[in-house]
Amino acid sequence: MTAAAERPKRRENPGIQRFISGGRAESLSAEEILGWGLENFHPRIALSCSFGAPEGMILLDLMHRIQPASRVFVLDTGRLPQATYDLIDRVRDRYGKSVEVIFPRARDVESMVREKGLNLFFESVENRQLCCRIRKVEPLNRYLHDLDAWVTGLRRDQNVTRANTPKIEIDESHGGIVKINPIADWSSDRVLEYVGDRGIPINRLHSQGYPSVGCAPCSRAIVPGDDPRAGRWWWEDPETRECGIHTGEEEGGSGI
Ligand code: SF4
Repeated sequence: MTAAAERPKRRENPGIQRFISGGRAESLSAEEILGWGLENFHPRIALSCSFGAPEGMILLDLMHRIQPASRVFVLDTGRLPQATYDLIDRVRDRYGKSVEVIFPRARDVESMVREKGLNLFFESVENRQLCCRIRKVEPLNRYLHDLDAWVTGLRRDQNVTRANTPKIEIDESHGGIVKINPIADWSSDRVLEYVGDRGIPINRLHSQGYPSVGCAPCSRAIVPGDDPRAGRWWWEDPETRECGIHTGEEEGGSGI
């Protein structure tokens, strides 16, 4: 008997399936949804936090208050700005939490930069997507493989492609695990209000004009009036600006 057969995945529990398909989560608060997720899946549930958007920091705070041993992970692409690394260490100090830092496969990165150079992403959309695949998508898939559920900071008003984001869904693109988006119905004003009220630590680059902070070479500050996503992969046409982490949705401000 295999280990997998000995331990049925909790996401396959009929009660959990009924809860998700019944749509009850839509009337619940972020705290209630996280409480449900942690009760049913901990420790096989983790928050995806980029440390480059306030949404992930809010969820980290909420989850920590419900379950101090709740898990949080970040994809370290190897190209993150120093401000993001500093924030990760601030979280360790403030919450006493060890953040799970997930790296890309060294051999894949080495082979990519040997063949295409260190700044390949500026040369073509294909190169940029390859870099995102190797540094983000593959590590995420590898990490999620061992989980039954993950939590994201996706919000419906971030982008038209996110307008129908449910608070809980089955994530078919990651093996049918449960994907929980507890603040899907929050506005950006509510996010900022919560951060201020609770004194949540956030990335210092937000105060320098970065609405969301991703990899250093692929993020830049915007000016008032710009689309909030204008600072991400700004050299590309808007329709190609996605990294493949949230299938069918654009990345950014998502907790990754
Ligand atoms: S955001 Fe830029 S540096 Fe980061 S993985 Fe994608 S292409 Fe590479």
